[in-house]
Amino acid sequence: MRFKLCVLAGSSKGNSIFLKIDDERFLIDAGISNRKIEKALKDINEPNPSHLTGIIITHEHSDHIKGLKTLAKKYQIKSWLTYDTYKKIRPKTGPIDTEFIEVAESFSIGSVNFIPYEIPHDAVDPVAYVITKEKLRIGILLDCGKTSTYLFDGFRNLDVLIIEANHSFDQLLSSTYSDVLKTRILSSEGHLSNWHAAEFIINATPKVVVITHISENNNSAELALSEIESILALNTENYMPFIVIVPSNERGAIISLEEE
Ligand SMILES: [Zn+2]
Ligand SMILES: [Zn+2]
Repeated sequence: MRFKLCVLAGSSKGNSIFLKIDDERFLIDAGISNRKIEKALKDINEPNPSHLTGIIITHEHSDHIKGLKTLAKKYQIKSWLTYDTYKKIRPKTGPIDTEFIEVAESFSIGSVNFIPYEIPHDAVDPVAYVITKEKLRIGILLDCGKTSTYLFDGFRNLDVLIIEANHSFDQLLSSTYSDVLKTRILSSEGHLSNWHAAEFIINATPKVVVITHISENNNSAELALSEIESILALNTENYMPFIVIVPSNERGAIISLEEE
């Protein structure tokens, strides 16, 4: 079993995650321009986008689908998404090659299994994913307003958890954002805070955590790491995952594993 994982971009300006398991390659979301996706793939030594097996979509917000139309059409890559999400994005992408998924119904692409989990967020049909092959379990929880035992249970025993830590609660409250925008971000259909991410990590206890979708205005890589680590230290004994932070304007580190 081999896997290679890299958050190509992770912020409110655009999100895209590359995942290769053995010889199958996927993008989860394509929220940066096709040109940036091509460059990022080249940078991680995966230069040919036509080698992608599929694009897996979480929801229709532009920071998750910006490059989808060009990428899907130029390289003839199929996209997996819910029907309602496709209806929302179709005016922007036009017809693209799709496979429709149902919330809570697992599906396979080649030898890789995907379980889509319903999550609360201000989109039509947003989902998080647990991706598995044999013993390998990877969870991806991006834009999400609040966590739940349903999600804790589904995301237990992960090798890698990629999770949003959008804002520092204190920094958002004291920011210059309008009350309307603050309310939207903090609502149960908004985004996860550093505190929420830490709570999720404590409940799911993954081995490796990748922190992404960090707000440029209401958080920072350093602040997210220090808030999450201190909450973990206060609330857990003998558990501290390996944590990788994706700064909002940079590609994340490559995480890979090769084992017989
Ligand atoms: Zn987003
Ligand atoms: Zn969103």
